[in-house]
Amino acid sequence: MDTSAHEACDENGLPRERLVVVGNGMASLRFLERLTEGSSGRFDVTCVGAEPTAAYNRVLLSSLLGGEIDEAACAFRGLDWYEAHGIRLITGAPVTRIDRDKGLVVVGETDVLPFDKLVLAVGSLPIRLPKPGMDLPGVITFRDLADVAAIRRAAVQHARAVVIGGGLLGLEAAVGLARLGVDTTLLHVMDRLMERQLDHHAAGLVKRAMEARGVRVVLEADTARVEGATRVERLVLADGTVLQADLVVMSVGVRPSVALAQAAGLEIGRGIKVDDQMTTSDPRIFALGECAEHRGMIYGLVEPAYEHADTLARHLAGQPAGYSGTALSTSLKVSGLPVFSAGLVDTPEDAEAIVLSDPGAGLYRKLLMRDGKLIGAVFVGDIAEQGACKGLIRSGDPVENVDDLMFGRPVPEPLAA
Ligand SMILES: Cc1cc2nc3c(=O)[nH]c(=O)nc-3n(C[C@H](O)[C@H](O)[C@H](O)COP(=O)(O)OP(=O)(O)OC[C@H]3O[C@@H](n4cnc5c(N)ncnc54)[C@H](O)[C@@H]3O)c2cc1C
Repeated sequence: MDTSAHEACDENGLPRERLVVVGNGMASLRFLERLTEGSSGRFDVTCVGAEPTAAYNRVLLSSLLGGEIDEAACAFRGLDWYEAHGIRLITGAPVTRIDRDKGLVVVGETDVLPFDKLVLAVGSLPIRLPKPGMDLPGVITFRDLADVAAIRRAAVQHARAVVIGGGLLGLEAAVGLARLGVDTTLLHVMDRLMERQLDHHAAGLVKRAMEARGVRVVLEADTARVEGATRVERLVLADGTVLQADLVVMSVGVRPSVALAQAAGLEIGRGIKVDDQMTTSDPRIFALGECAEHRGMIYGLVEPAYEHADTLARHLAGQPAGYSGTALSTSLKVSGLPVFSAGLVDTPEDAEAIVLSDPGAGLYRKLLMRDGKLIGAVFVGDIAEQGACKGLIRSGDPVENVDDLMFGRPVPEPLAA
C-alpha cells in the first residue's frame, strides 16, 4: 500500500494536513461531502472502510431484503466521486490499531497510514443475545449488505424464519422476509412493538399491519435458547414454547464500536466520548455517528449522525460549530402504514393527551400537551403534520392552534376570479 502520496501545501501555501477517516458508512460519507464543500484542499484525505463497497444507504437494506430494490439502488457516491475530490478510498480493509504516539493507524495486518487528524466513524455492532445456540449457523444479524445476502440465501433454502426483536429493524426484517414468501414469526420481549416510539394503541395498529402482511407477532416472548444439531432447527421460549425455525434473525439492538478507540486509550463511556465539536479525549481525534457518545447520549439513527458530520466538517473548516444534541423523532412506514412519533410517547400525569382514533381507517393521532406546549406526538396512518410537531417539540414554543396539528392546516380557498 502506497502511503506516501501527500502534497505538502494547499492552494494558499499552508501545509496540508493528513486526515484519515476510519469507516466509510453513512456518517463518514456525509462528513466527506461537507468537508469537500467547506475546506477543499486543506487536507490530504484517506478514508478506510471495512466493508468491500463504498458507503451505501443502510436505511434501504430492508427494501433490499424484501426484493423491492436491487443493490445498485442503495449506492450513494461512485468511486469516481471520491477520485474527483482527491479522496483516497480504501475498501474491504479494517483499521486494526491506532498508534497515537506515532500518529498512525494500522490497516489490516501491517499497512500503516500516518495522520495529523483522525476521524472515527465506525458505527455500531449488532448485539447477539447471550443465550445458548446464538452462534449456530442460521442465526444472522441484520446490519450490512453481507447480512442481507446471508439472510436472502437462507430464506431461499429454508422456509421458516423467526425474527427476534420488535424494534424498527426487527419489524423491517420480518416484513422483508414475509415479502419473500418466508413463513415469519416476530418475537418481542415487551408487551407492545416499538415501545420506545409508540404507545399501546399505535403499537396495536402496527401489529395489525404486520399481521395483515402475514407476519405472526408474539409479544412478551422471552427467548431462552436456539437449538439444532449443525445449524438452527428450533427456538425455545422461556415459557417452554417451541418454534421450528430454519433461520433466526437477531435484531435486539446495537452497541457502539468502541474497541479500536478503547485499545488506543481514548475516553470511552457507552460510546467514544466527544465534546460539542466531536473531539475525543485526544484533540487530534474525532468521532461521529453511532460510535460517538455526546453528553451521555448515543444515537442509532441517521439524523444525529448527519448532524455530527456537519458539525465536524464546519469545525475542521475553521468555522464556528457546536453540536448540542438531537431531539429524536421516528418516521417510518410499516407495511405501507405511515407511523410518526416524537418526544414523549406515554402520557405523564401532569400532561394532557388529545386523541383522535379511527381504527376502521387505521388512523390514530395523539398529542401530548403540557402548559400549552407540545411535548409529544404519535401519529399512525396520516403523518402529514410531522414537520410542524417536530418543530414545536424542539422549540418548546406555545401551540397556537391544536386543531391545525390534529387535523392539518386548512387549505386556503382559491380567490374568486
Ligand atoms: C436495516 C437498517 C435499517 C435502518 N433504518 C433506519 C431508518 O429508517 N432511519 C434511521 O434514521 N436510521 C436507520 N438505520 C440506522 C442507520 O443506518 C444508522 O444510524 C447509520 O448508518 C449510522 O451511520 P454510521 O456511519 O455511524 O454507521 P454505519 O453506517 O454503520 O458505518 C460504519 C462503517 O464503519 C465500518 N467500520 C467499522 N469498524 C471499522 C474499522 N475498524 N475499520 C474500517 N471500517 C470500519 C463499518 O464496516 C461500517 O461500514 C437503519 C439501519 C439498518 C441496519
